[in-house]
Amino acid sequence: MSQTRKPLAVTTLPLWINGKPTPASSARSTDVFNPATGEIVRRTPLANSADIDKAVAAAKGAFPGWRDTAPLKRARILTRYRELMEANQTDLVRLISEEHGKTLLDAAGSLQRGIEVIEFASGVPHLLKGEHAEDVGRGVDCHSLLQPVGVCAGIAPFNFPAMVPLWMFPVAIACGNTFILKPSEKVPSTALRMAELFSEAGLPDGVFNVVSGDKEAVDALLCHPDVAAISSVGSTPVAQYIYETAARHGKRVQALGGAKNHAVVMPDADLPFTADALIGAGYGSAGERCMAISTVVAVGAAGDALIALLKERVSKLKVGPGNQDGIDMGPLITRAHRDKVQGYIDAGAAEGATLVLDGRGLTVAGHEHGFFLGPTLFDHVATDMTIYKDEIFGPVLIVLRVASLDEAIALINRNPYANGTAIFTRSGAAARRFEHDIEVGMVGVNIPIPVPMAFFSFGGWKASLFGDLHMHGMEGVQFYTRTKVVTTRWPVNDERKAPTLAMPTLG
Ligand code: NAD
Repeated sequence: MSQTRKPLAVTTLPLWINGKPTPASSARSTDVFNPATGEIVRRTPLANSADIDKAVAAAKGAFPGWRDTAPLKRARILTRYRELMEANQTDLVRLISEEHGKTLLDAAGSLQRGIEVIEFASGVPHLLKGEHAEDVGRGVDCHSLLQPVGVCAGIAPFNFPAMVPLWMFPVAIACGNTFILKPSEKVPSTALRMAELFSEAGLPDGVFNVVSGDKEAVDALLCHPDVAAISSVGSTPVAQYIYETAARHGKRVQALGGAKNHAVVMPDADLPFTADALIGAGYGSAGERCMAISTVVAVGAAGDALIALLKERVSKLKVGPGNQDGIDMGPLITRAHRDKVQGYIDAGAAEGATLVLDGRGLTVAGHEHGFFLGPTLFDHVATDMTIYKDEIFGPVLIVLRVASLDEAIALINRNPYANGTAIFTRSGAAARRFEHDIEVGMVGVNIPIPVPMAFFSFGGWKASLFGDLHMHGMEGVQFYTRTKVVTTRWPVNDERKAPTLAMPTLG
């Protein structure tokens, strides 16, 4: 196995607490790699409970002032933040690609989708309006208020260093909360840069804090008495653990989990269009997307023609460093993850699936130490095979064959994951049937990656989400606010009545 090359000096990143870079008190830290070169590019601290206490104290201290800042004033800071994020896109995209490995184009697209959440959150004065009803009883009015919950924390995965955190903190902060982001320790730099820019936009100190770390930092947040809400995105076992632990400590929680997204291809689909869509969805970001299509369910005659098209097109994909022109697919996040995905390819072949394209053993000239794996395609996969049962999270697309749409829907509904799914067809009836019967949170019709826009909500069902509310859109606003209902009477002298101990009613 190749050795990791170490540059002469690497910087250790700070935490971001109370509006400034802050050295961690924890003595633990971890290497951050450029996955395309295999080099260590920096080190990041792994925060301990003292670091978390410090961040929570800053967020708690900033909360009263921020809560009482007029929503319109908060919105103007968000608008300024969006402008700064846009002005610094090139820099952010470079950082995302350097630590994650994805292509610059893909990094730019995901950053743009994240910035759109800031844009959505800038409409917060409108989003926070409650309801009012006059005369709910004689001379009695009723109105509701949406108030912030307090200190919120977000725990993010490695695969979208900007976009996933941006699903959370702009909405939370727009609603008047303060926030602590724990980015993935594999890609910490983008979060720090986003925090700097938020400060530059005029955000008061302590409203947004970034604390890099691993399980120790997460546990300190989940158990902290001054943290009111936890948003997290990651693999299913971690999501379930976060959900259960935080709920046990009295917090509201939304914990998004892993995925195994299926695309159904009907025999009447436009197959060249479908093949192109599946290639983008299966191999974009090297398959390290929670909305990646990893599983194709080919119905009837669609199978053979589709495999031929996929084979021809996938074999032409260019794999290499994400920051070079003309590259379609970058490396995987770590050497260990690359080896794990390679192990799944071994298992698929051993368990009897047809290996149409084998990405194992790929080396990229000039980048021999990078964590690369070529695009891989399996046909005739069965539901009891490991490559069907597990989330692979790599550039491995598997194809299953079924006889009918009914069979395809039943197969998908039996899968424990339920993040996204898609159908490719020219039949409105088949699409409508699929949309109605499928038990999955996000559905595409001739759209392979149906990631909802910022003004809708993002989230899966079943093992892909622990909690009740999805991220951003109005469900995000609901998650980051609590409702207070106020019932009011202004009695005049002649309306005064004798005391009554009965439950008040309309009459
Ligand atoms: P991960 O579960 O390993 O880590 C997620 C976060 O949890 C990280 O910040 C990590 O530091 C922390 N963490 C890891 N182990 C922990 C533990 N034992 N206790 C407490 N915290 C822990 O996920 P990842 O590898 O960073 O990201 C990939 C996973 O995220 C995939 O499963 C993917 O499907 C999922 N994901 C889901 C969505 C979605 O919207 N549902 C979006 C993006 C990624």
